[in-house]
Amino acid sequence: MVTENYKAVEKRVCEAAARAGRDRNEIVLIAVSKTKPVELVLELTEAGVRDFGENHAQELVQKYEVIHEGINWHFIGHLQRNKVKYVVGRACLIHSVSSLRLAEEINKESLKKGVVSDILMEVNIADEETKSGISDEEAETLLRQISELPALRVKGLMAIAPPVDDPEENRGYFRQMRALRDKFNTLGLPNVDLKELSMGMTGDFEVAIEEGATMVRVGTAIFGERHYD
Ligand SMILES: *Cc1c(COP(=O)(O)O)cnc(C)c1O
Repeated sequence: MVTENYKAVEKRVCEAAARAGRDRNEIVLIAVSKTKPVELVLELTEAGVRDFGENHAQELVQKYEVIHEGINWHFIGHLQRNKVKYVVGRACLIHSVSSLRLAEEINKESLKKGVVSDILMEVNIADEETKSGISDEEAETLLRQISELPALRVKGLMAIAPPVDDPEENRGYFRQMRALRDKFNTLGLPNVDLKELSMGMTGDFEVAIEEGATMVRVGTAIFGERHYD
């Protein structure tokens, strides 16, 4: 079931890339397995899937212990500073860095473990009160501060667009993200080389790809609805 779903999403990724005249291989399809049993992850790995996303540190650790050889575990959720130690060294990329305090903690833990951590800076593109991201103006200031942390490499930007009925409503946000990334790349900051744009989820990943997403985070369309209890 999940393998068929994944293949259907993969086909849509290919079609969206083709519409935009892009190479499919520029885009990483991340299967967001949060709340779902690791057996489903294993099923997908047998079909060749390598990139998975989690948003809770403990769940990442549990699934990582079952499988990590040749697998890229992406940390995509809000990360509390006291959980950073679980994620550094396990996640290939932390997508959701939206404060200097969090960046400093990841830097500190990375130095302690003798690793360099790849991160994305989360931008609160829709400027919603409820999101844990930051505004455009604050983003440049934060990026300058993060660039001074020696054990971090900022690989790109991440955004969670608002939930919408019509994905076209988010096209403008995705376009803004790409413009912001290109602008930030001209600043010439150390440790900053923004290639990635992590944006687009089940409801809007095709539009995100058309607007330049290099990573899409898809959960529901692959694993079905999530049930929280
Ligand atoms: C859960 C989650 C997703 C996947 O959402 P779907 O709508 O199920 O595809 C993507 N990004 C983040 C940050 C998430 O927390």
